[in-house]
Amino acid sequence: MITRSPAKVQTTGPLLASDAADKARWQRQLSQAIRSPEALCRRLELDPAWLPGAAQGHALFEVCVPEAYLSRIVPGAPQDPLLRQVLPLAAEGETPDGFVNDPLSEAAHTPRQGLIHKYAGRVLLIASPTCAINCRYCFRRHFPYDANAPSRAQWQQSLDYLRDDPSLHEAILSGGDPLAASDRQLAWLVGELEAIPHLKRLRIHTRLPVVIPERIDAALLDWLAASRLQKVVVLHINHANEIDDAVMAACARLKAAGVTLLNQSVLLRGVNDSVDDLAALSERLFEAGVLPYYLHVLDPVAGAAHFDVPDGEARALVAELRKSLPGFLMPRLVREVPGEASKTPL
Ligand code: SF4
Repeated sequence: MITRSPAKVQTTGPLLASDAADKARWQRQLSQAIRSPEALCRRLELDPAWLPGAAQGHALFEVCVPEAYLSRIVPGAPQDPLLRQVLPLAAEGETPDGFVNDPLSEAAHTPRQGLIHKYAGRVLLIASPTCAINCRYCFRRHFPYDANAPSRAQWQQSLDYLRDDPSLHEAILSGGDPLAASDRQLAWLVGELEAIPHLKRLRIHTRLPVVIPERIDAALLDWLAASRLQKVVVLHINHANEIDDAVMAACARLKAAGVTLLNQSVLLRGVNDSVDDLAALSERLFEAGVLPYYLHVLDPVAGAAHFDVPDGEARALVAELRKSLPGFLMPRLVREVPGEASKTPL
């Protein structure tokens, strides 16, 4: 079973250990997340017939859903687009040709533990191996987090890598979910990054403001607002129903701290594979002050093939979507191709 649980206290790296003495409200919510298929089916009043399949999927990649996200799912509705993102299925055991554990060949672009360098001008740091939610389509569901949980000395090697390359202008915090790390640990890392003169931007890819909006609290905003780096937060929202009033308020707090908000979605069968769903998502994002950025076709990760939407259908959907949205609300349809110098437009 792939275990990547926010409730587990990771002790090997300085960015990972929990500030147990003064747990914030969001950390308590994480520790109380539902982590069994039985509890998930019970909480959402699903027919017991879903349980055997959920148990099979859970055995491959464990369930993790906090209450703040569950509260946006309609009970007793197995086709709810938010439930589809978190409910394990027996189909996750199917591995059609081309679906693999490392679909983006990230292992070939990892020059230091916890550092991925794929594109010119920016590097990605695995700032946390945990997530607030385990998304069934995740392209890193098989990622070797244990081998990418650096100690503080190892982090210094990654920071040296950034210091030694003046062509790098942007550091991207990823994971797992980077905001699953504590604020003390993130403030330390961002402080180290700020001291590198050629770095201009800090980009954070996260689902935590959506999954537990309370994560955007005063402690986070303190270090984020104080940073000299230009700040971009890329949210990963796939459906308009994910954006409730609490998420809107979290986005407003981030904007007030000087953060540019973007969104990237994954085109997912049964979640957002219709013009109406995609249009509603773009409209709702803009209401929250977030610009749609990318619409990714699914990365072919083993266990997620049932979410796949073929390229031809994806192109047709986007062509229709263009008729109903202004250009600035149109996400770019892209695929990530291992070895390419950038995302590939479809
Ligand atoms: S999609 Fe993001 S938040 Fe979801 S499991 Fe993967 S890394 Fe975590």
